[in-house]
Amino acid sequence: MQTPIYLDNSATTPLDPAVVDAMLPWLREQFGNPASSTHAFGHAASKAVEAARIEVARLVGAEARDIAWTSGATESNNLAIKGAAMAAQARGKHLITVQTEHKAVLDTMKWLEKQGFSVTFLAPQKNGLLDIETFRAALRPDTVLASVMLVNNEIGVIQDIAAIGAICRERGVLFHVDAAQATGKVAIDLSKLPVDIMSLTAHKTYGPKGIGALYVRRAPQVRIESQMHGGGHERGLRSGTLATHQIVGMGAAFRIAGELMATEVPQMRMMRDRFWNRIKDLPGVLLNGDMEQRIANNLNISLDILNCDSLVTTLSEIAVSSTSACSTGGVSHVLQALGSDDGIAGNSIRITVGRFNTVEQIDWAADYLRKKIEDCRAGRQQAA
Ligand SMILES: *Cc1c(COP(=O)(O)O)cnc(C)c1O
Repeated sequence: MQTPIYLDNSATTPLDPAVVDAMLPWLREQFGNPASSTHAFGHAASKAVEAARIEVARLVGAEARDIAWTSGATESNNLAIKGAAMAAQARGKHLITVQTEHKAVLDTMKWLEKQGFSVTFLAPQKNGLLDIETFRAALRPDTVLASVMLVNNEIGVIQDIAAIGAICRERGVLFHVDAAQATGKVAIDLSKLPVDIMSLTAHKTYGPKGIGALYVRRAPQVRIESQMHGGGHERGLRSGTLATHQIVGMGAAFRIAGELMATEVPQMRMMRDRFWNRIKDLPGVLLNGDMEQRIANNLNISLDILNCDSLVTTLSEIAVSSTSACSTGGVSHVLQALGSDDGIAGNSIRITVGRFNTVEQIDWAADYLRKKIEDCRAGRQQAA
């Protein structure tokens, strides 16, 4: 078996080879600026950008005109939350989010607190899901925006966005959803979902890093104050020369995700369950997050085993995440919010399978992890 085996597809995915092929011409001869309206170089680039916009919109059931390009979900979250909060502040300055959100949401909210906004950070239930009545009770007359992610990046749980959005609609509160981990894994239909703003990124769905999008509903019009000022690109929402090759890559990645979803999701579930079934009987192996309301490719386990707290750092043959690649060390804020004690939360592993994993890899990796855990329990903890 060639190792390390990549099982960290929620940190990032490899590019689909078809995505690379789609991108290459736009890195070579097709170098025009999509904003150049006076010649064929610009026209070709602009056409490619608009075709990609349609492909991204299609995967989430949106209109192409509601999609704006950004550099990824971090930027989309910043633009959505700061931009909507600032545009709405005359109506109120209260915001709601959840403690298990990505840092790009949490730290943006904390920054807004320093600017005079008031933020409620709701605790999820022990299974990672937000209780709808808890959410309803947090709404105030001055609440203007709520932000709840669709799929959690650490434990893979799927929040009930339709129910939360319905409450927001009823109360006239804008609703932002970070869907960075959801595309290609969960069906999204913004023509039906009561969501006003949605963050997307390419590199968790077999596209390139450094490109993302923000969906902003135009009917009824959602107001967002731009955070990047300049040439007025993307209808003034986000200035900056469009990265044609990246955008083409995201379009191709989202088109492929739409085509493969029906077969790929069951395949991932099969592999994820196969992995879990090979280790779940071990004493002290605990599953984090709800197993039903959860995407198909995610396993997140904690090891509650004496003297095995450094095990996760010795797994040299499998590429997994020990909390989240996005948080710099320390204990997972997500597992803490679920009520795990720090010792257990600090000894947790996220395993996320992907499009290019094989059943042979899954079996090998699960048996490898099983042996590591057994060795550790028996006091045979060797160095990597
Ligand atoms: C990866 C991720 C982000 C950040 O996306 P980038 O495109 O890497 O900036 C934001 N939110 C969630 C839930 C993520 O998983």
